[in-house]
Amino acid sequence: MFEWFGKVNFTPHTKVSKFADYLKDGYLMGSKCSKCGHTDFPPRADCSACMHGEFEYLEWSGQGSLITYTRIDAAPTGFQDLDPYVIGVIDLKDGGRLVAWFGESIPESEIKIGMDLQVVPQVFDETEEIKVYYTLEKPGTSWNKRPAD
Ligand SMILES: [Zn+2]
Repeated sequence: MFEWFGKVNFTPHTKVSKFADYLKDGYLMGSKCSKCGHTDFPPRADCSACMHGEFEYLEWSGQGSLITYTRIDAAPTGFQDLDPYVIGVIDLKDGGRLVAWFGESIPESEIKIGMDLQVVPQVFDETEEIKVYYTLEKPGTSWNKRPAD
């Protein structure tokens, strides 16, 4: 259910839709190419190294460091009720980068480029349909994962 991913979703149909199911269950999953072994996060249906179309999901630790950040005072469509908020770009230890909101464990005054961060899966609970996302939190932050089937 990729429709679950993000507050505003422009791509409900994708080969990587299980990414959102995993997030709902507390797992940060990237992709590993079945041909060359290259890994991508967020997961990509087609390998970013060789364009091969088959992959398997692999769990990421979500540990990383902050590359840059910005404060959003004039939010885009769908996020007007949330501004102002701070988002950051982080370099993931397991490979790849992501953009995410800063969570409640890190006040804006403590944000420093290069700081270590933990990506934590989250679910918006104010919406009727399930909406998943992730936040940037202090290293060592833990969260609940649904046990693997
Ligand atoms: Zn590949």
